[in-house]
Amino acid sequence: MRATLTGRLALVYNAETYRRVVGGKDVIIHCHHYNSRIQRTIEGAAEIDGRGLLVAAAEEVFAEHLAANLREDDSMASRWAMAELLYSHLGYGCIDLSRVEQGEVVAPSSHFVEGWLAGLGQRDAPVCSFTEGYLQGAIFAASGELVRVREVECMATGAARCRFTVERGREEPIARAPRAPATLAAAPQSAYLRSPNVDEEAIIAAVVGMPIYGNLDGLIPAFGVYLANTPADFYNLVSIRFVEAMAARRREKTARRLLIEDAETCGMNTFRGIMSSTEWEGLIAPMIRAPADNLHALVAVSNALGWGDWHICSHTPGLSLTLESRSGYEALGYREYRGVADQPCCSMLTGVAAGLMELVYGEGTLAERFGTFTSSESSCICSGEPLCRFEVERVV
Ligand SMILES: [Zn+2]
Ligand SMILES: [Zn+2]
Repeated sequence: MRATLTGRLALVYNAETYRRVVGGKDVIIHCHHYNSRIQRTIEGAAEIDGRGLLVAAAEEVFAEHLAANLREDDSMASRWAMAELLYSHLGYGCIDLSRVEQGEVVAPSSHFVEGWLAGLGQRDAPVCSFTEGYLQGAIFAASGELVRVREVECMATGAARCRFTVERGREEPIARAPRAPATLAAAPQSAYLRSPNVDEEAIIAAVVGMPIYGNLDGLIPAFGVYLANTPADFYNLVSIRFVEAMAARRREKTARRLLIEDAETCGMNTFRGIMSSTEWEGLIAPMIRAPADNLHALVAVSNALGWGDWHICSHTPGLSLTLESRSGYEALGYREYRGVADQPCCSMLTGVAAGLMELVYGEGTLAERFGTFTSSESSCICSGEPLCRFEVERVV
């Protein structure tokens, strides 16, 4: 049964748009540093109910994602198996649903616990709010029942495994954010800057060919970090709603800055892991003849991770970098969920663009490099422009 179910989640990579599709949804690969940091940013904002926001986005997205991967003639056992499999295949860890009908779920491994303990220290409260939302959405998709899931024990606080209780009798339906397909202006075919030393197509093919899905523990250790495949819809709902909730409290600028900083840190962490991996050593290191070749190679890798079809337009080594993105998931998501925006919205790409320069040209620890380049998005698809454009400069 498991093999048949796994077949439904086979990766479809679209070479033209650089999108990764798993089980019918665009997924984006990010590492545990990024996922834990945006969780801390959103849940840590005292003015808003960040935890509720995150749980609601997860339940909404995964109710839809799991439903899209169930068939009408699936038995109840297959439905629960698919709910467990989708979670572990995407890299979030293992959930055991064998006692879900008795009101209990246990999880012996967790991407979110790994992420929190790796960089953000011990906690006295459970950390797996994403999993609560996943379970609420998945239980609804599998059985039609509306429930509330609460994590009562968590490995992040020293428990042997995470444990969740399932409360029945919920009446509030699972929300479905209205969305409309975005009509985009055709992007001009720019002549992008390439390095003759770096074979971008070979890099993309190698990364797309890697088995980036959960192992027996439901985790994806690779490049020295834990990766996860997360639906673009999830990232978009949480960041749009976080910025809106903060804007309602006159904290919009702070919200955007925090999201950019999380991505800047993540960009350095993930790409440092990639540059010291055996995969890099074998395939990419022989292509590197000059420092700028690292940038070209890293941009190719990020395109294989589903981040948004972006390319280098101009670059002065050590000083500045301009990138253009033709279909970043943040901009497309904004257009679908909210229509046309009055300012750029691609926090992730903005932060990562600075992180790339800091990693390739910076010196010292990652903390010392942080903030040594500034990055801004000068035009964005979300405001009706044909491209998103990012300008990065060294801070003098
Ligand atoms: Zn936990
Ligand atoms: Zn944008």
